[in-house]
Amino acid sequence: MEILSNQDNDIKKAAKAIIAGALVAFPTETVYGLGADAFNPIAIARVFEAKNRPSFNPLIIHIAEFDTLPRIADISGLSEAGKEMFGLLSKQLWPGPLTLILPKQAQLPGIAAAGLDTVAVRFPSHPVAQKLIRFSTGALAAPSANPSGCLSPTRANHVSAQMGNKVDFIIDGGKTLVGLESTVLDISRETPCILRPGGISRETIEALIGTVLLENSSMAVGNEDKPSPISPGQLKSHYAPRTLLILHKPGELAGLPQAANEGRLYFSTATRHSALSLQAPAPQNQVRILSQDGCSIEAAANLFEMLHELDSLGLELIRAEEAPALGLGEAINDRLRRAAT
Ligand code: AMP
Ligand code: MG
Repeated sequence: MEILSNQDNDIKKAAKAIIAGALVAFPTETVYGLGADAFNPIAIARVFEAKNRPSFNPLIIHIAEFDTLPRIADISGLSEAGKEMFGLLSKQLWPGPLTLILPKQAQLPGIAAAGLDTVAVRFPSHPVAQKLIRFSTGALAAPSANPSGCLSPTRANHVSAQMGNKVDFIIDGGKTLVGLESTVLDISRETPCILRPGGISRETIEALIGTVLLENSSMAVGNEDKPSPISPGQLKSHYAPRTLLILHKPGELAGLPQAANEGRLYFSTATRHSALSLQAPAPQNQVRILSQDGCSIEAAANLFEMLHELDSLGLELIRAEEAPALGLGEAINDRLRRAAT
């Protein structure tokens, strides 16, 4: 890990690293974020791993130009009222500490939105954050730069103390101004709803778009890592395969012949081979392997796309196996369990 200054040459150095897949902690006006290229699923999986998150809570995609938005979100998927709200809110409150939940653009990797068909987008006002985004890939997936369950960092040394060996660079931009996370507002649903109170007040939002709902205030702490009403809420809105999904313990699939109208999601080549030896080979396109050599970061990066692919085949059943409970394995299993219910 290297600490960088907030001067342009250092920001450019960090930006170059992001393009190559690195993780960079950077200041925003709310708290320090842990950024990765929003279009690099492996880098995003490393963000989850660095935070040691037990589940895939969707990340906020940070942009620094309105022109980038179409690569992230599909505004045409909003209702007419939603489009109008988006126009008002983005014009008046971006850049700033407001995160909007919007329909996800299909090309954005599934792990960036944790498998949801909506995506959280924010346009930070901090000049260092804006430069880092512009100098790199135009869109950074970034949660707060703290380990799961710990306080959000408002200074570079909070990040180095908590995440030191997990990040490649930390850009020191001094103390963050707002010190509180962004307000998360969902305008993809019929009635707009504040999912997390934060840096922009409800009054400010309501002055622009009228009454908004407030999701159960016991989640007002805004800690994305603690179980809170936001999680059950997301659980429901989480993409669930239409196809019946049955989850098996590691190794259980090995002795089970694959039926003709059945899809398989194996963790690794090793676990798949032990299965193949016992059965007639199934059609190749009905089998997915999360990571050939059993790397949980690669497996996490592939998880949502592979679930979507298998689900699109119109099969009767998908059998998936749990990942070893190491590294991101726990988060992968959490997601698979939700997909199986
Ligand atoms: P953080 O990771 O600290 O920046 O927090 C991000 C917040 O945005 C968390 O509370 C997430 O649950 C929430 N969030 C991100 N994407 C979505 C989404 N598509 N739908 C609902 N909430 C989201
Ligand atoms: Mg956070």
